[in-house]
Amino acid sequence: MLMCPVCREQLTLNERTWRCENAHSFDLAKQGYVNLHVVQHKHSKTPGDTVESVTARREFLSKGHYAPLKNEIENILKTLNQKTLLDIGCGEGYYTDAMQQHVEHCIGVDIAKTAVQRAAKLNREITWVVGTGAILPVQDKSIGICTSLFSPIPQQEILRVLKKDGFCLVVTPAPQHLYAMREALFDQVNLHEPNKFVQQLQDHFTLVEQKRVEAPLTLSSEDLKNLIAMTPYAYKAKPEKRQQLEKQNNFEVTACFNILLFIKK
Ligand SMILES: [Zn+2]
Repeated sequence: MLMCPVCREQLTLNERTWRCENAHSFDLAKQGYVNLHVVQHKHSKTPGDTVESVTARREFLSKGHYAPLKNEIENILKTLNQKTLLDIGCGEGYYTDAMQQHVEHCIGVDIAKTAVQRAAKLNREITWVVGTGAILPVQDKSIGICTSLFSPIPQQEILRVLKKDGFCLVVTPAPQHLYAMREALFDQVNLHEPNKFVQQLQDHFTLVEQKRVEAPLTLSSEDLKNLIAMTPYAYKAKPEKRQQLEKQNNFEVTACFNILLFIKK
C-alpha cells in the first residue's frame, strides 16, 4: 500500500527494506518505522514536534485524560467496518494504537521523527511512517478511512488516497476546549472555530456524522505542565502566566472535542 516518495510507484517490504521497481529503497529503522520524508520535501532538519512536547503528550495521554475521545472514536470505527486506515499526523500514536484494533491495515504518518520513534514502540501491528501530509505515503485509492486528529487536512491528497465511498474522520477542538486554562494563560481568549473544516471540505465530502465529546478534568501541577507543553500555548502564553498556572493543583477544566465524519462524494 505504501508509495515511493520519489517516483510514486508501489513499495514492497523485503526483510527490513521497502523497495520500488525503480530501485529506490528505504530501510526500516531499528525502532520499526520507515522514513519516507525525502530531502527535497524537507523545510527544516527537525520538523514537527519537539522531543519535549512528544514526551509531555505521551505522559498526559497515558493517564487517560482524553480516554473519552479515544473511546468515542473507537465506537465510530466499529460501526464503519473499514479494512484500511491512514492516520495523518499520528504523533506519538495514542489514538492510532487504539484505532488499529478496528481495521486490518493501519498506517500512521507524521512529519516529526521524534514522535514516530515513540509511536513505533507502542504497536508493532501498525506501519509507522515519517512523512508529510503534502505527499501522503500511500497509493491512490488504497485507503478506506483517513483520520486527522488535531492535525492538518491535506484535502487533495486525502481525495487521492481514499477509495470510492471512503471516509474522512476529523477531530478538532470545540469552541470551549480548555477554556478555563486558556483564560488563565491569555488576556483574551479566542474561541476555536471547528466549522471552518466543514466549509473547507464541503465541495468533495459530505458530512455524515458530528459528535461532541466532553472530558471534565481535574489536573495536578504535573498534568498542567504536560498539557501546556503539548499545545501551542507553550510558546503563545506569557511566561509569568504560564508559571502561575503550572503551580496550581486540582485545577478544573473541561476538554471539548468535535468529531466530524465525512464521506467522499
Ligand atoms: Zn521509486
